[in-house]
Amino acid sequence: MAKCYTNVFCCALLAVVSLVLDTSARQSANVADTQSSGTRQASGPVANPFANTGPEIEVTVDGHTYGQHAEALHNLGSPEDQVNPMPPHRIVGDLYYVGTVGLASYLVVTPEGDILINTTFERNVPTIRKSVEQLGFKFTDIKIILGSHAHSDHQEGDALAKQLTGGAKVMVMAEDVPLLQKMMPGGKPHPIDRVLHDGDEVELGGATLVAHLTPGHTPGCTTWTIKIQDGGRTYDVVIVGSLSVAPGTKLVNNANDPHIVDEYRRAFKVSKGLRCDIFLASHGAVYDSKEKYAKLRAGGPNPFIDPDGYKREIAIEEAIFNAVLAQQSKAETTR
Ligand SMILES: [Zn+2]
Repeated sequence: MAKCYTNVFCCALLAVVSLVLDTSARQSANVADTQSSGTRQASGPVANPFANTGPEIEVTVDGHTYGQHAEALHNLGSPEDQVNPMPPHRIVGDLYYVGTVGLASYLVVTPEGDILINTTFERNVPTIRKSVEQLGFKFTDIKIILGSHAHSDHQEGDALAKQLTGGAKVMVMAEDVPLLQKMMPGGKPHPIDRVLHDGDEVELGGATLVAHLTPGHTPGCTTWTIKIQDGGRTYDVVIVGSLSVAPGTKLVNNANDPHIVDEYRRAFKVSKGLRCDIFLASHGAVYDSKEKYAKLRAGGPNPFIDPDGYKREIAIEEAIFNAVLAQQSKAETTR
């Protein structure tokens, strides 16, 4: 429970966020950014749904200050962002964005059918289908469904998406199977057609996605990589599962997941070893999708090429992890 949100807790958290999160959280954070300190904060009029999870823990990376709570708010996005569609768009080559503003879904198009990554909440599945169709593709051409990690805002829609695609195969990381089996919207069993292990490849029509186990956020949290051709170049694409330590996560003496510290360390190590040209994630805000989409519309170089953004995301989340661990370890020894 403390390790990561179960479905119920995840929904409860999102419901709390829905009640209190001002949609301007990120903007006000940006204002703070550009004012004096370079600090990203969830301050001002925005109530903090993580208030009962202890004080804000702040870290400094490259001269900017980031808070654990502020980052969580930033990445979750507003309740509207979680359900409103993002205009579907091509990211690079045959890789497209088909998710909502806040919850990222990706479509890999191949001559033998398509791959959908992240069905998000079940209620978002019709929105995703519409986005796929707006791009000129068919939802029924989706043959494989993958996910970032076993939280309901990323994989709750698997059963409905499988049904609406006419039987796409749902492939999930082994370590997330127990959590996914409890994710049963409307009582529907979670479909699992193939169980994946670290390093497994998912192939379809010449496209190959590699599943990298980057655990901690959930035990089976998965970072996907794929090489995509575009304009005579090959791009290394990384879709980050999640590296964040959500407020309230117990890193010390976690009975549910005694190895959580080692898991996070593994996730950071693995992530640092991945080649990245195009930086994507399970939440749009993690890679600043709104800003990059605006740049895409304006023309110019592909804004999704952002290896530095990828490195920065790892650095921020690792710094927060270390700070939370230090704080919890200190509290434990002084008990
Ligand atoms: Zn999550």
